[in-house]
Amino acid sequence: MGISNNLGYILLVEDEENLQEALKLNLELEGYEVTGAGDGAEALKKINQEYFDLIILDVMLPEIDGIDVAENIRLQNNDVPILMVSARSSTADKVLGLKKGADDYITKPFNLEELLLRVQKLINKNKKLQEKETVDDRYNFGNNTIDFKAQSATNFRGEMIELSRKEAMLLKLLIENKNDVVTREKILQAVWGYNVYPTTRTVDNFILNFRKYFELDSRSPKYFHSIRGVGYKFMV
Ligand code: CA
Repeated sequence: MGISNNLGYILLVEDEENLQEALKLNLELEGYEVTGAGDGAEALKKINQEYFDLIILDVMLPEIDGIDVAENIRLQNNDVPILMVSARSSTADKVLGLKKGADDYITKPFNLEELLLRVQKLINKNKKLQEKETVDDRYNFGNNTIDFKAQSATNFRGEMIELSRKEAMLLKLLIENKNDVVTREKILQAVWGYNVYPTTRTVDNFILNFRKYFELDSRSPKYFHSIRGVGYKFMV
């Protein structure tokens, strides 16, 4: 699985199996990695477990409908772009969808090319927003605070942690690219420099330490994720 070929992670929430299958195939052909969900509860579960660049959300779903799913996502302070898909084309339905958190709205039956363009636009817009983010001297996540200037941190247990220079650099790199995978190559270049090539285990050990410092349960990390064979991801 080459991450460079992956244009983004999409959660496709659609209860009509044939449509889900057809859409998934077309999105994958475009270069997206697609996870499917057949109802609202499954969608919410996946959103809590995995990172997505975009959610394509059908409105008419069994039990928890798309409107409630969108509302639920936003109540969790999750800003993931949502493209709502609905068979209902009335203005009132669109307004409701947009009010509850959809970023864009498309009506069934839709033109595939139009859907793909909207998907691409939403993902690119979000990526640009993320790239522009720079990190201040202090950064908070959970109940942890990192002071990059002082190379120290205070964690959720109230412990003061002295960070090594490399730890501070790696934390900054991961946080600047939050919710995006930072490849091992990029980490080695940015933190270790071109001349030294530490083993994979070196970077792993840094991540393990971050989990010990900042995670409630270091075996089930919320913030510091390893993407096997690719790199690492800081998620908030
Ligand atoms: Ca449906």
